[in-house]
Amino acid sequence: MNFNYLAKKYGTPLYLYDFDHFKNQYLKLKEAFAGRKSIISYAVKANSNLSVIKHFASLGSGADCVSIGEVKRALLAGVNKYKIIFSGVGKRDDEIKEALIKDILMINVESEAELARVEAIAKELGKIARISIRVNPNIDPKTHPYISTGLHENKFGVDIETAKKMYIFAKKSEFLNPVGIHFHIGSQLTQLEPIKEASAIVSDLVRSLKAIDVDIKFFDIGGGLGIKYKDEKLIEPYDYAQAILSTLSGLDVTVICEPGRFLVGNGGYFITKVLYEKVNADKRFVIVDGAMNDLIRPSLYKAYHKIEVLNENNEKSKANIVGPICESGDFFAKNIEVPKTNPGDLVVIYSAGAYGFTMASNYNTRPRVAEVAVENEKERLIRRRETFEDLIACEIDYLV
Ligand SMILES: *Cc1c(COP(=O)(O)O)cnc(C)c1O
Repeated sequence: MNFNYLAKKYGTPLYLYDFDHFKNQYLKLKEAFAGRKSIISYAVKANSNLSVIKHFASLGSGADCVSIGEVKRALLAGVNKYKIIFSGVGKRDDEIKEALIKDILMINVESEAELARVEAIAKELGKIARISIRVNPNIDPKTHPYISTGLHENKFGVDIETAKKMYIFAKKSEFLNPVGIHFHIGSQLTQLEPIKEASAIVSDLVRSLKAIDVDIKFFDIGGGLGIKYKDEKLIEPYDYAQAILSTLSGLDVTVICEPGRFLVGNGGYFITKVLYEKVNADKRFVIVDGAMNDLIRPSLYKAYHKIEVLNENNEKSKANIVGPICESGDFFAKNIEVPKTNPGDLVVIYSAGAYGFTMASNYNTRPRVAEVAVENEKERLIRRRETFEDLIACEIDYLV
């Protein structure tokens, strides 16, 4: 990746995506499940640029979506509708309605009340809604509390007993077809045991449902596979697949996996440029043109991202790398060893492909940055930099 050339051509701040890396990650995971019916449904929220979704769709990927907007993105990018799943704890009526009309693979239901809404809307439309139920297996995934989702204290899914009740309800309904089961215990998972435990619990539920004539066809294991930000010991895709498959003996199900971060995290780079350096008392600050509105993970989760200053200077000392936003939380790193910088030096923030651009905002009236894809050593702009006019386009009252 020629950072200097690309930064010069497209300006900074900038997101760069290595589409070859994205592809390799997809193929690695797909291969791990070989020998079983499987669908990899890319979790669109990790990086929802249409070109990124299209890239995965061209490899055969489905899409895991958490809003009707993401469903529309997936369809627009050419994802096969029978590989699209609509998840999320709080779906509105209009979203459920549109998902049913679009005839996607299934709606992932997260509460009894929501199941009743899906049934009522399907009835109104004269359709049969394919659904799965998100089970909360009450497993501690041993990750950051903000990205843990599989404990009863989290807002996601329903407990096993409630799930059973819901399947029985769905089975009796003329307007519901319970085809799937779903769990997703958290993100950035680096330990296999919790996933295996959760899978065992949910597969037992599938067996007991079979006994009452509820035939589950799709076993959706969610996403969550971790990536290397620093020195994490990772789960190998092969071991992951084996752990899941070992819990499925005797079951004829299609495994659905919904990775987001694993597919796009390490292949993304956030490129920013040094504006100034300054020292307050003893504290050294490197002020760059990117900010928390562009990449919020350090501020939001205290997430670590590897950072590299591109210059030849060997004289290093500790500094905070900060953006121009009016918040003390606006930093990319604190107290890291970096060389003395000059204005214009490029700073590369690694592993920024997942939950980077998709979590960006216009805070401080900062236009969102450009996104560039690199594939086969050729680059192309996949989202132009926003302009001031883009930012104010929806504001109308001031005109009268
Ligand atoms: C966020 C999410 C994913 C993807 O999580 P990653 O950690 O990015 O793999 C998959 N499934 C569901 C239901 C999610 O909410």
